[in-house]
Amino acid sequence: MKPEFTYIEQFINRIDVECPSCKAKAVVTSSPENRAETRFTCVSCGSTKNWMGKANVFQTGSSQFFSGGILMGHPIDCYFKYPLWYTTEVKGKVLFGYNKEHLTYLLNFISNKTRERQPNEHGWSNRSLESRLPKWMLSAKNREVIEKKLKELMAKGV
Ligand SMILES: [Zn+2]
Repeated sequence: MKPEFTYIEQFINRIDVECPSCKAKAVVTSSPENRAETRFTCVSCGSTKNWMGKANVFQTGSSQFFSGGILMGHPIDCYFKYPLWYTTEVKGKVLFGYNKEHLTYLLNFISNKTRERQPNEHGWSNRSLESRLPKWMLSAKNREVIEKKLKELMAKGV
């Protein structure tokens, strides 16, 4: 059985964030067909904002060299760089999810004891989420605490 590759891009169409104005749970929505149509909405304080970044520039890695595009892999939303709603700490590392589907995915993946990376018919994929997860998240000795923290995050209300 070959596992389906999961691309992190599927989780960035709806990101739960903390509103920078009122600190309530707010949302950033984006269209996979057109990332220029990305918008922040907070129903608590009525704040809205259209994203004006570089929709065709994807960036991972250090935010120090951030160029104004879509930044992945940090506990902030990829567009406005607002703090994520689902973020916590595990042994000094930041554990985060863009939304509940992302947390569910991570929980299932980490709980799966037979998580072996296998190539699909196109070979290994570096763009898959599996290949991007940091080592500390995949370490067997951290599995229990990460599962606990993910479940706590999933239970976090509004
Ligand atoms: Zn607000």
